[in-house]
Amino acid sequence: MTYPAATGDFRPVPESLPAYAEERSAVIDLEAIRHNVRHLAAVASPARVMAVVKADAYGHGAVPVARAAISAGAHWLGTAHISEALALRAAGIEAPLLAWLHTPESNFAAAVAAGIDVGCSGWELERIVAAAREQERPARVHLKVDTGLGRNGATLDAWDSLVGEAMEYQDQGLLRVVGIFSHLAVADEPERPETDDQLAAFREALAIAQDAGVDPEVRHLANTPATLSRPDTHFDLVRVGLGLYGLSPFEGQSPDELGLRPAMTVRTVVSHCKDVQAGQGVSYGLNYRTGSASTLGLIPLGYADGVPRIATGGPVRVSGVNYPVVGRIAMDQMVIDLGPLHVSAGGPSLLGAEAVLFGNGGDGGPTAEDWARAAGTNNYEIVTRISPRVPRRYINEEPASDENRP
Ligand SMILES: *Cc1c(COP(=O)(O)O)cnc(C)c1O
Repeated sequence: MTYPAATGDFRPVPESLPAYAEERSAVIDLEAIRHNVRHLAAVASPARVMAVVKADAYGHGAVPVARAAISAGAHWLGTAHISEALALRAAGIEAPLLAWLHTPESNFAAAVAAGIDVGCSGWELERIVAAAREQERPARVHLKVDTGLGRNGATLDAWDSLVGEAMEYQDQGLLRVVGIFSHLAVADEPERPETDDQLAAFREALAIAQDAGVDPEVRHLANTPATLSRPDTHFDLVRVGLGLYGLSPFEGQSPDELGLRPAMTVRTVVSHCKDVQAGQGVSYGLNYRTGSASTLGLIPLGYADGVPRIATGGPVRVSGVNYPVVGRIAMDQMVIDLGPLHVSAGGPSLLGAEAVLFGNGGDGGPTAEDWARAAGTNNYEIVTRISPRVPRRYINEEPASDENRP
């Protein structure tokens, strides 16, 4: 492969690292989360915001992110699994909370007992009703219609009967149809026509439900890209995940251009720095060899930490320069080539210097998008796959006193 060139101006290694400096960490800026919630709430208004905190808040930590999002004005929380929602309740979070991805093994009784709203695409209805009977408490249900994504949700053919059955159970006091929702397939590509088709199908499903007497508190369709690009999809509630974390869903549009601030910085410190001869092979397979005498920096993060093994060439910023990773990414470590005789030509040893894989992109720093490009994936996956071996550290946990509270 050909490697990108290093970019940036070398800066002296600071004497002291930031307060959160430690071997490795994913630093989560909760003020960035709160800023993003306030921004998305303003964009969505008068619709409300559901902060989607599934998958441990896309790797950012579900409980602290959920608390920050609620404090900044999100009214709802969303998870995929009931078990994820239960963990939020166990942490004392009482906001309205929806879980939408179930299996016959899902614990609907626990959801009903904890006041967790459940999505229902069809087969779940009997289980939800059984749980409500067992708990002697009506279930809170959001009926889901498949408007084109082809995952869960009732087809429009099955919608009529799902709505009818749900309303019979509502009349018996076993459940309340709190919401009606669907999910978009291509909202990140605003020029594509299918979003219009999905919107039309959603309106049709809403009309059918209304005819059947459903009076939902919330109708919801939009994800982050639709929240940002399609006001006509906002309805009563928008379900935002990616934007909450300050990342852009659109190819070629930066978070900054969308008014968002990336919340996660993944960083570590250089664990070895040495001069080598020309032709030194680097990492398993020896797929990279130094072109001339050079200095190698060892970065102690690898695929066990969630760095994609395929992402050779991804940038690591050390002392103001973004260096591409050279050679294979291993389980625990990867290597950057600091260039000709960096150390013996009088440059400082970079042992212990902070090494940033990605952060908010300020000052030319690397971003999750850079790593997504290197790995052939999207920014969602880059942040979400950072593994539990990388401790999460929270900064700006408390809102500054001058922050506008909702
Ligand atoms: C993950 C998810 C979302 C959030 O999508 P983003 O693009 O991250 O905003 C919304 N709704 C459903 C059903 C989801 O699964």
